[in-house]
Parts: sequence; C-alpha cells; structure tokens
Amino acid sequence: MNRDSLLHDLQALLPAGSVVSDDAELLVYESDGFTIAHARPAAVVFPTTTAQASDVVKLLAKHDAQIVPRGSGTGLAGGCVGFENGVVVSTSRMNRIIEIDIPNRAAHVQAGVRNTQLSNAVAAQPGGAPLHFAPDPSSQSASTIGGNAATNAGGIHTLKDFVSSNHVFGIEIVLPDGSIATVGGQNACCEAGPFDLPGLFCGSEGTLGLITALWVRLAPKPVAYRTIVGIFDNSTDASSTVAEIIAAGLLPAAMEMLDGRMVRVVEEAFGFGFPSNAAALILTEIDGTDELLDAQMQMVADIHRRHHAISLETSSDAATRAKLWKARKATFGAIGRISHSYCTQDACVPRSTLPAVLQRIDEIGREFGLQINNVFHAGDGNIHPIFLYDDRDEWQVQNTLLAAEKVLKFCVDIGGTITGEHGVGVEKLHLMPYLFDPATMALFERVKKAIDPQERINAGKLIPSEKLHVNLLKPGRHVPQ
Ligand SMILES: Cc1cc2nc3c(=O)[nH]c(=O)nc-3n(C[C@H](O)[C@H](O)[C@H](O)COP(=O)(O)OP(=O)(O)OC[C@H]3O[C@@H](n4cnc5c(N)ncnc54)[C@H](O)[C@@H]3O)c2cc1C
Repeated sequence: MNRDSLLHDLQALLPAGSVVSDDAELLVYESDGFTIAHARPAAVVFPTTTAQASDVVKLLAKHDAQIVPRGSGTGLAGGCVGFENGVVVSTSRMNRIIEIDIPNRAAHVQAGVRNTQLSNAVAAQPGGAPLHFAPDPSSQSASTIGGNAATNAGGIHTLKDFVSSNHVFGIEIVLPDGSIATVGGQNACCEAGPFDLPGLFCGSEGTLGLITALWVRLAPKPVAYRTIVGIFDNSTDASSTVAEIIAAGLLPAAMEMLDGRMVRVVEEAFGFGFPSNAAALILTEIDGTDELLDAQMQMVADIHRRHHAISLETSSDAATRAKLWKARKATFGAIGRISHSYCTQDACVPRSTLPAVLQRIDEIGREFGLQINNVFHAGDGNIHPIFLYDDRDEWQVQNTLLAAEKVLKFCVDIGGTITGEHGVGVEKLHLMPYLFDPATMALFERVKKAIDPQERINAGKLIPSEKLHVNLLKPGRHVPQ
C-alpha cells in the first residue's frame, strides 16, 4: 500500500473534511477502550452515506489497505484498532434516524446513530413515550447501534431483555468487495430470506463487512420498578442468593454484584455508609406492574434474608431507586481515583460457579501482584474483573495480560466462555482455540473466507488470520513479579 497515493485518492473521492491523516489527529484513533492494544492507522475516513461507504471500501480494496470499521470506539477488545496501516472507516457521521415507526414498534437507522440518541428520539415522537431501544450497554450514551450490533452488546438489563441481536431484524451491509447487501426483514413482523443472516452479522465484530444501516425493534419500557440492595459479609452467601432468585423462577430486569474490594472503593469515594465488613453487594431490580411487584420484592428480600444478608434496603420510589443505583454506576469513576490505568475483562460462567470463580480471580491477582476488583452482571454469570495497573510500567501491562489470560482459561475450564458481551477483538483471539475445537475453528474460518476471501476487512480480529497477527504478549517480558 502506498499511503500518499491512497490519501490522494480518498481525498478526491470524499467531500472536504472527510479524511483525517494528520498524526496528531490520528492519535485519538489509535485504540478503543482496551488501551493496551494500539496502533496508528494510515487514515480515518468519515462517510455519511451508504454509497460513500461502498466507494471507500472499493477504493481501499484497490489499494490493498485493511478496512477497519469503527463506531464510537468504546469497544473493550481492540476490535477497531487499525494495525499495520489499516484505514479506519468511522460511521460516526452516519448518524441519521431514517424512520421511527411507532405503530409497528420499529426504527430504521444509520449505523452511527448512538444508542440513547434513538431512545430519546423515540420518546419525543407522538405516542413514543412508552417505547425505547432496549439494549443498554453502560456506554449507551456514546456507543453506536452499528457497534452494538457488531459486538452483540449486552448491558445491565440483558438478563431480561437479552443482547442486541434480539433487537435487530434487518441489516444493510457493505461487503468487503464494496457491494451492498440487505439481509433480514424491513418489517418487524415478517421473516425474510433463508438463514438468519442478521444473526450472523451481529457479533461478527466488523470482520464480515461494514454495517451501514439497521432495522431495530422498539420495546415497551417498564412502567414500575422495585429495587433491592443486599449486602453480605461473604461472597458465597451473595452468589447463592443470585442462584436461588433465578432458580425460584423470578426474572429480575437486572442483578448486579460488587465484590468487597469494589464496595470499599466506592464507599471511600462517595461515602454511601456501607458496613466495613461488606464482602459483596447485590443490586436487584424487578419491573412490571405495581400489582405484582410488591409480592415479588418480598420474595427477593426473603431469599436475601435466608442467605444471611447483613443489610437490606428496598425501594419502590424513583428517588430511592436512583440513590441505590448510584453505587453501581459510580464504580468506574471510583476506580479512576485509585489507579492510573485499568482493564475491564469480560467472561461468562455458570451462575453456580461464581464463588469458585471469584476466589480464583483473587488468587490470580495475588500471584501476579495485581489488584483485581469485580463488578458484574451476576444474574447472567457475566463477570467483569477489573485489573488495576499502571500502563507506564511494561511489567504491569504484561502481568495484566497474563493474569487476564489465566482468569479466562479458568472460566473456560469451569464450563464458561471468554466473553459475555465485549467480544473477542484482538484481545482474546489467542484464546479462541482454547474454547473451540479445531473443527469449529475451521468452520469460523470458512464463514469468514466465504464472505471475505482476501481478508480485506478487520483481519486478525475475532478469527485467526493468515494475513495479520498481533501478539500483545511480548516474549521474555512476562515473568510474574
Ligand atoms: C464505560 C464503558 C462501558 C461499557 N459497557 C458495556 C456494556 O454494559 N455492555 C457491553 O456489551 N459493552 C459495553 N462496553 C463496550 C462497548 O461500549 C460495546 O462493545 C459497544 O457495542 C461498542 O460500540 P461502538 O460504537 O463504540 O463500537 P466500536 O468500539 O467502534 O467497535 C467495536 C467493534 O465493532 C466493530 N464495528 C463498529 N461499528 C461497526 C459497523 N458499523 N459495522 C461493522 N463493524 C462495526 C468494530 O470493528 C469493532 O470490532 C462498554 C464500554 C465502555 C467504555
């Protein structure tokens, strides 16, 4: 690839201001939220229409440049990093809501529309107030709907609302050769075409094409809530509470857990008044109609008591609910006070194994001399160990990667998987063969090659690539402290 000639052709193709190639400006696009993986792309381009996106993809193919799709760059697996002079194709200016169809509870959006941008626009429509776009990653004010589909994002309410693919019924996608395909339905009620192709593209992490538009479902918003916060002096009682609530047939909208270390960090930062011997906090939210909720809240509270909660608070009003959620939402801000850098890991395990997993994470942290705090979607068994380190110290970076690998392998060994919602990206690529057998890995590669035979788009992410391989672990530097 000749960069000068590529930049010349991109600038000739797109309106002024659509190509970023200045080193200082490219700095912003060197990484996503997983900052350990970074590389300066050759350029970043900002198409505004599907036709422009298709022309860009064709031009990049002509120049043999890697196409790297990017939404808002909030990903946590290095999926939109442009290694080896890749060209980042950003959808952030493809942010038009094309149609909101309240009677059919559907919307048609460009891929760069932000998650909350859609829900806010729906609420502002006549008759739209009771509806929203349900997937709610904590990044929802920034992350794009295209990015949510590409990573199959979950969120706090995934337990009840499920992940993004359940809310996407049609996708327009620019394929790696620049052709434009439309898969799935354009009508929420009708099945369209053979194969579940929207399902294939959801979670494909930009490795099969550039999503340019989506047709999504709008779901009813809950009308009433009850929120329950229980504190425990050991994590086994807390994990058993989670397991029993689910086993009882209750379906909370959310069930979040903070480990003792995280409770203390939040307490020191914000002074909620949590007991000093807190070893775990569970926040459960149930929603539905007022008539049913009080009885269900009682059941949830009784299960907490049976498992020896040392403190229990329930609420049915909006002000107390907001106060109770503050502890959960304050976690990442509180981490920022105590650590120079942090890396949020993501794995999924059977709920019954949570005590063993938390214990093992603690042991691995001690082994590598790292503090690991846990705040996670306990109801789904979707854990998020947060590794605290200092990115100015290469030893700590390498130990973070090694410790994370050990945690993820333990999760697989215990019957879990290496991602609950953040995806694989470049970060966990090396663990794919640990999780999947050779025949399954070969199938993934055949799917990739069928759609992208020349590996033009996001090579080296999600599926091993012959063309591009990034090794974040540096040989000889990864001895534990
Ligand atoms: C504070 C914080 C909280 C978070 N909370 C959650 C959470 O609760 N749940 C959760 O699931 N994730 C969470 N994330 C991770 C991240 O926000 C999600 O993965 C989100 O879906 C990424 O969207 P994005 O627009 O930022 O995509 P990007 O980060 O830009 O890209 C992510 C991946 O999708 C691909 N991609 C993006 N757009 C397209 C497109 N149009 N076509 C094809 N491929 C594309 C990229 O190539 C990359 O592989 C969080 C991140 C942060 C920083």
